[in-house]
Amino acid sequence: MTTDSPAVALRDIRFSYQKSAAPVLAIEKWQMQRSESVFLFGASGSGKTTLLNLLGGVTSPDAGIIELLGQPFSSLSSSKRDKFRAQHIGVVFQQFNLISYLTVAENIAVAAYFGKGADELAQRSADLVSKLQLPESVLHQKASNLSVGQQQRVAIARALINKPEILIVDEPTSALDASARDAFMELLMQISAESQCSLLFVSHDMGLAKYFSRQEDMRELNKALEVGA
Ligand code: ADP
Ligand code: MG
Repeated sequence: MTTDSPAVALRDIRFSYQKSAAPVLAIEKWQMQRSESVFLFGASGSGKTTLLNLLGGVTSPDAGIIELLGQPFSSLSSSKRDKFRAQHIGVVFQQFNLISYLTVAENIAVAAYFGKGADELAQRSADLVSKLQLPESVLHQKASNLSVGQQQRVAIARALINKPEILIVDEPTSALDASARDAFMELLMQISAESQCSLLFVSHDMGLAKYFSRQEDMRELNKALEVGA
């Protein structure tokens, strides 16, 4: 895997939820370099989560090419795509998607790529939890017993467990008040820089734009929708 290829490269992407429906995404060309942290903003319903789902391999484009780290992600077989995602992409979902009846340690373990031994996994989980300023005891608590702020940090620990090159984060601050939000953003920027991740962060909250090296408007990406191209 070459290190000079972009983290993300999109070409002529089309996506709609139903065959006859208008497309939700029509992106002619968009790139994100490895060294960048990108803030992608847009109103609710503008297609941000849909795009992240394509980048996470949750859904596939109807047309076009998605390259991640120089690999033709969208044309990999589904098993290769799953493997690639597990090894190279960390995702923090809008609703965190923690499994409520499992402990924090178990939630992280579920995401860990198979190659990891139990000791290494435990060590790395403890490191991440500590970097995210959570007490180590949180590892043994059920996810359902955590506060929203704690769940959010655990979702980040889980996303980083496999040392991904790309970290994708979807509107994580909607549920936080302003001071918790700033503390969370500082922590996220610090840990993603330390982990040397390319960060793609999605929000409708322009107050968060200042944390990022580049800002992108979802409407600009989707320009082809407006001209009907
Ligand atoms: P955002 O994350 O920017 O709020 P979304 O990507 O969730 O936007 O949604 C983009 C558009 O696609 C919206 O019009 C939304 O109603 C529609 N949409 C989202 N998910 C689905 C789905 N599972 N089925 C049908 N339409 C959907
Ligand atoms: Mg969304």
